[in-house]
Amino acid sequence: RFKALVVDKVDEKMEMEVKEIGLDDLSEGEVTIRVAYSSVNYKDGMVAVKGDLAEILPLVPGIDLAGTVIASGDDRFKEGDEVIATSYFIGTRHTGGFSEVARIPAEWIVPLPEGLTLEESMKLGTAGFTAALCIQRLEDNGLTPEKGRVLVDGASGGVGSIAVNMLDDRGYEVVASTGRTEEAEYLKSLGAAKVIHRDQVTDFRGRATRTRQWAAAIDPVGGKTLQYILSSLDYGGSVATCGLAGGVEVQTTVLPFISRNINWLGIDSVKHPMEHRLKVWERLAGDMKPSALETDISHQIGLDDLPETLHDILKGKIRGRIIVKM
Ligand code: NAP
Repeated sequence: RFKALVVDKVDEKMEMEVKEIGLDDLSEGEVTIRVAYSSVNYKDGMVAVKGDLAEILPLVPGIDLAGTVIASGDDRFKEGDEVIATSYFIGTRHTGGFSEVARIPAEWIVPLPEGLTLEESMKLGTAGFTAALCIQRLEDNGLTPEKGRVLVDGASGGVGSIAVNMLDDRGYEVVASTGRTEEAEYLKSLGAAKVIHRDQVTDFRGRATRTRQWAAAIDPVGGKTLQYILSSLDYGGSVATCGLAGGVEVQTTVLPFISRNINWLGIDSVKHPMEHRLKVWERLAGDMKPSALETDISHQIGLDDLPETLHDILKGKIRGRIIVKM
């Protein structure tokens, strides 16, 4: 038997507990993995604390995991292989990474690329993968460092911190927006040229266009922040919209689209096709590997610390990335 965090609904309330479970408690899959590390993402908070997106109960949450194969019924993997598994239905409809052992369908598994350790792969996790998808998509749409400043909002969070660091590594001038200006030094250490308060990029007035300020933006926040971005992108600029930490509703008009030629790009990590997923992980181990992985972009917790951390991430209290060591 092994330890896992299990969530369930009791009297209409979500409850979570670290307890001993067995293989029979895990969802079906061809590959059994001794989990070395998992990580905490905003979505894990939504699943575990609110029960949103939890499609089976009881459930072992955790959308990310990295570890070593201990048994495989699929030719693609063998005992001893180091692997990463993120997204798809892991931690929502399928038991996930907050467990010493996981069982995952082979088609959702990525071999650990050369150039990354298991620990580094979880410092990145879904947040790092998503930041890379955003940057790639922006660059596919013409972004280069010469085009001008790039805004990253929700900058102290997981996706935000990694995006700031990756963009700086690639030569971009990054403006980081945060509700926690006390994190300015941290954000500058990751590479932000300027740190501003999130109120400065929140559309309180519902204006369709305002002064052009950014060649591009990476937006894990959504809501009125995204409204502001759409109204303030440079001519031909793009925003990669990847999150909803500040809200799902967006009011805009056609004006910035038809008068400024802007692109509103949607980013999904969950169902991202495996063929491209493998390429992005190769880049995360190579030219897009963030320099700050070696320093203080993350900190480590154990399974027993998860209940408190999962509440904290929904309150916007987590700085950078949290990895869970099994
Ligand atoms: P996180 O670490 O909690 O970061 C979110 C950040 O957003 C917070 O640190 C905070 O940054 C800011 N924020 C929180 N509440 C806010 C509010 N009410 N108004 C404005 N800003 C607020 O979470 P994460 O794991 O990086 O995920 C960020 C978002 O991206 C989530 O919505 C998540 O679901 C989404 N996501 C989507 C994908 C995808 O495939 N599309 C993949 C990964 C994540 P500051 O304190 O610095 O302002």
